[in-house]
Amino acid sequence: MPIDEERDTRKAIFRGLRLKCPSCGKGKVLSGYLKVKDKCNCCGQELHHASVDDGPAYFTLMVVVAIIFPIFGLIYSLFEPKPLWVALSMMALATMLALFILPRVKGMFIGLQCAKRLYGF
Ligand SMILES: [Zn+2]
Repeated sequence: MPIDEERDTRKAIFRGLRLKCPSCGKGKVLSGYLKVKDKCNCCGQELHHASVDDGPAYFTLMVVVAIIFPIFGLIYSLFEPKPLWVALSMMALATMLALFILPRVKGMFIGLQCAKRLYGF
C-alpha cells in the first residue's frame, strides 16, 4: 500500500475489533490471547509496530464497569439478594466480560494505529 494513500479509519477499527488485520480484514491480528503477530499472513502488513501499552486495559475496564454497575444496581434493588452472592456473581461476570473484551479492544487500538499510521505503520 503506497505511503500517501489514505486508510479508512472506521473500517480498520472494526476489523481490529473482529481480531482481523486492519489492512485486509482476512488475516488474524493476534497470535495467542494478546500477543500481536509480526505481520499479517494474508497481505503482509507489518503489525509489530503496534504499541498499545495500557490503553486497551483502561478502555476495557471502563466498558466493563459501565455494563456491570447498572446490572448490579438493578439486581440489588429488585431481588435484594445476599451481598456476598452479589459480590461473587458480579466478580465472575466482570472477569468473564473483561477476558472477552480485552483482545477485541486491543485489536481495535491496533486498527486505529494502523489507519492513522502511528508508530511506524
Ligand atoms: Zn492483512
